[in-house]
Amino acid sequence: MQNPFPKKCDPWQAADRNKLFEFNIETNKLSRLKFAGNSTSWLKASFDFYREDRKALLEIKLTGELSLECQRCLQPLLTPFSSKNTLVMVKGEQEATKLSAHYEPVLVDDTDLITLLDLVEDEILLGLPQIVKHKECQLTYKMASQNNTMAIEPEKKENPFAVLQQLKK
Ligand SMILES: [Zn+2]
Repeated sequence: MQNPFPKKCDPWQAADRNKLFEFNIETNKLSRLKFAGNSTSWLKASFDFYREDRKALLEIKLTGELSLECQRCLQPLLTPFSSKNTLVMVKGEQEATKLSAHYEPVLVDDTDLITLLDLVEDEILLGLPQIVKHKECQLTYKMASQNNTMAIEPEKKENPFAVLQQLKK
């Protein structure tokens, strides 16, 4: 089902030709992001290159799921993810400062190539949810029933409300 993914692409040429790339990306392959353990998650990515006012633009859309780590039990948690952003290709920082605020610049270096997976990683980092928790963590319940004292004790010590209550007294 997965198409060959061009690691790098010339954005100026792609914009001239109105290129549209669509890929399924296995999120484990995104090296800058650390996803939970062995579980696999997939994102559908579309890259739509086009020209506007002589600028080369890229609309990047992501939809799918991310296998994130639950902040409570540290087990994988599949979280729906979707994002959409329009990026504009620029050459040199000077050009970037001249852009109006609603454009998000991508600095293209002298190779005239951009790495599509890097852009995907940026989009995910921007859109990650702040809080990632199961509604009910299976593992915590299992541990609690197997060994009551171990599961409950550390929580008591770190309970911030207990400290607050003491202050009130
Ligand atoms: Zn959990």
